[in-house]
Amino acid sequence: MSDKNTFDAIVIGSGMSGGWAAKELCEQGLKTLVLERGRDVVHLKDYPTTNMLPWEFKHRGQVPYAIAKDNPIITKCYAFKEDAMHFFVKDKEHPYVQEKPFDWIRGY
Ligand SMILES: Cc1cc2nc3c(=O)[nH]c(=O)nc-3n(C[C@H](O)[C@H](O)[C@H](O)COP(=O)(O)OP(=O)(O)OC[C@H]3O[C@@H](n4cnc5c(N)ncnc54)[C@H](O)[C@@H]3O)c2cc1C
Repeated sequence: MSDKNTFDAIVIGSGMSGGWAAKELCEQGLKTLVLERGRDVVHLKDYPTTNMLPWEFKHRGQVPYAIAKDNPIITKCYAFKEDAMHFFVKDKEHPYVQEKPFDWIRGY
């Protein structure tokens, strides 16, 4: 077997838990692979609204009606506003079965 594709640990997802687990594994000297399905969010470059003032937003910070209507689940989240809505997984992008009411609000 080739050493090239051999790892001591494979971490799926580089969120808070996976990112931290990978850091700990690397610090212990394990050859670690991290797989992340989301895009590469580059610090500062990918925070386009951080330095915008409220009146600089086209909808003054509110979510346009058509977007809210299309996204009834994430619209329930306090943070789903014009300044942060680009980080949310849209309802139709990742549907799931609700056996009981369950709001699954995600970002990749
Ligand atoms: C709007 C919002 C605001 C929040 N604000 C705060 C706050 O202020 N303070 C705070 O402490 N917490 C906050 N939280 C909660 C915090 O973000 C979560 O508790 C935390 O991110 C959970 O960490 P996690 O590692 O379990 O999951 P996540 O951080 O969601 O990481 C999971 C990762 O796995 C990736 N992934 C999933 N499936 C796959 C796959 N099949 N293959 C590869 N990669 C995959 C995802 O893309 C994601 O990157 C907030 C959450 C939301 C939604």
